Amino acid sequence: MILITGGAGYIGSHSAIDFIKSGYDVVILDNLSVGHIEIIERLKDFAKNEKGSFVDFIKADTRDKEALNKLFQTYKIDAVVHFAANSLVNESVISPSKYYNNNVSGSISLLDAMVENNVKKIVFSSTCATYGEPNYIPIDEFHPQKPVNPYGSTKLAIELAIKDYAKAYGLKYTIFRYFNVIGADADGVSGEWHDIETHLVPNILKADENKVFNLFGTDYDTKDGTCVRDYIDVCDLAKAHTLAYEYLRNNDSTIINLGSGEGESVKEIFSAVENVLNIKVPLKICSRREGDPAKLVANSAKAKEMLQWSAKTPLNVSIQNAANWERILKTLQQPAENKERTHI
Ligand code: UDP
Repeated sequence: MILITGGAGYIGSHSAIDFIKSGYDVVILDNLSVGHIEIIERLKDFAKNEKGSFVDFIKADTRDKEALNKLFQTYKIDAVVHFAANSLVNESVISPSKYYNNNVSGSISLLDAMVENNVKKIVFSSTCATYGEPNYIPIDEFHPQKPVNPYGSTKLAIELAIKDYAKAYGLKYTIFRYFNVIGADADGVSGEWHDIETHLVPNILKADENKVFNLFGTDYDTKDGTCVRDYIDVCDLAKAHTLAYEYLRNNDSTIINLGSGEGESVKEIFSAVENVLNIKVPLKICSRREGDPAKLVANSAKAKEMLQWSAKTPLNVSIQNAANWERILKTLQQPAENKERTHI
């Protein structure tokens, strides 16, 4: 059985979908501070329809050792897939205490509970933000790690803790460093749902006549002056976690970038959304957003070599699925009596 922490959130819920589809039993632990109970309900419905097994949802914080011990004693957990974290860069600059407490203390508490309960495998959700300003592109896993914001620092701290725990207590790990995650599952079970939305694709999709899309910076040293990122579909990303778990059963610990290896500019993504959906999005050119590096692209060779994994979903499909999810999200955010429970 797999424990997914943060399974009510964006990436964690897609990982749950992939584990369920692959026939695994799943327990989710989430404190619902960022994630949503509606996502859990939708995952349960999905598992029923798939004849898969969603075993339980525990509303608890990763810092709650008592809840963790109870969970590990109740269920026979073979591996933990650890997503639970705060992940807004700007917020982390303003409130580092929140980030160090939730992300770092929460992960240490989880690792301690794993050791005490003899759970030996962890797949950890880290980030390319641990690299900081790139020295070279594409970024491989040997690139120096010098985070430039507290969010990246907390993820690096957890990476270091996992490595030390592995050495001392015999844990095995896969650490994934994600690049820019987009899209939603094709069945409309889950998608991006942040109370404060800062990400590119959902912000383009949310723009309308009352709310323009703000494009941050057109004077970067890139192909068209806007930032270049490596966009990866959330379902592809989720699949990598299932493969990593299977890999860990017979192999050693490893650290892997998850990206497509391709760089798309903000303008290219913006145009792609307009073209795929055949819409015109109101746009305002703004100055640079603080802390945005000009270009971040993954060297994704290791993922292919170790897990036989590569990004598969074309950009237009990710955009279409994200747009479908935005429609569902609108209904979920309406008052309870109008809420949609069925999938599209
Ligand atoms: N971006 C933008 N407008 C928005 C959100 C993002 O122009 O409303 C740009 C942002 O400046 C960056 C790129 O889109 O260059 C990707 O930003 P996102 O927040 O999605 O991911 P990040 O790379 O910061 O993790």
